[in-house]
Amino acid sequence: MGKPVIGFRTTFPLIMRFNDDTPFVGQTVDQVEARGKWLLIHFSGGGILTSHLLMNGRWHIYRQGERWQAPRLAMRIVIENKEYQAVGFRVPVARMHTEKSLARDLHVGRPENDLLSEEFDSSAAVMRLLSRRQDALADALLDQTVLAGIGNVFKSEVCFVMGLHPFRAVGTLTREEATATIACAQKLLRANVLEDSGDMIVTYRGQQRRTTHASDPGASLWVYGRTGEPCRRCGESIRRRIQGVDARVTFWCPRCQPMPDGSDVDG
Ligand SMILES: [Zn+2]
Repeated sequence: MGKPVIGFRTTFPLIMRFNDDTPFVGQTVDQVEARGKWLLIHFSGGGILTSHLLMNGRWHIYRQGERWQAPRLAMRIVIENKEYQAVGFRVPVARMHTEKSLARDLHVGRPENDLLSEEFDSSAAVMRLLSRRQDALADALLDQTVLAGIGNVFKSEVCFVMGLHPFRAVGTLTREEATATIACAQKLLRANVLEDSGDMIVTYRGQQRRTTHASDPGASLWVYGRTGEPCRRCGESIRRRIQGVDARVTFWCPRCQPMPDGSDVDG
């Protein structure tokens, strides 16, 4: 950061076109900011490169001349100055914004909605969550207009840690449960973000997400991806079901996360 950009490459045609109009070379990176799962790179010319890493995307920072730790074919964006190269690998979603267009883009959460932001307003988030009375808890947790930052993995993990059934209607939660759920999500997310020192590039750990305290990496998640395997708390088989308008998979333990009325969606 601070030093002028000397090289820029990307496989995203719209970003390349933006670069043709307003070249990044010669500009400086003013700020790098994480909003939920979005990484925002602010350029001195007013452009903001936003990227979403989903499951497999990564940003790596290399010193000039250092060997890349991912295949060249996976490269989507490279920004370099005299000292460093920032390389976005397998970045599935990236867009250019201005301050104005960013403010209109609801997909990039506002800092006060963002679980990882210093400005996160948890009481407002509790209100927004509780207002989704009819929604299933796991769906409401994924909704970026309620909270920014929870992805599909953490959705299931947070519900498990809270002992709450992911298909429960939000309206059946007490305010205390909603508050504790948001605090839990914040804690799990914070534990899973690494910040590189000087450059403030945030790297999400991808497959190494950790929500249990086990040191074995294979034992790092409670329920996500563990269909049919024994619950780490009670031994019951972990269940899996497609949930929500986006048809995302949800995992849970029917014994640790009972429905309030004793029913379970799988009978
Ligand atoms: Zn269990």
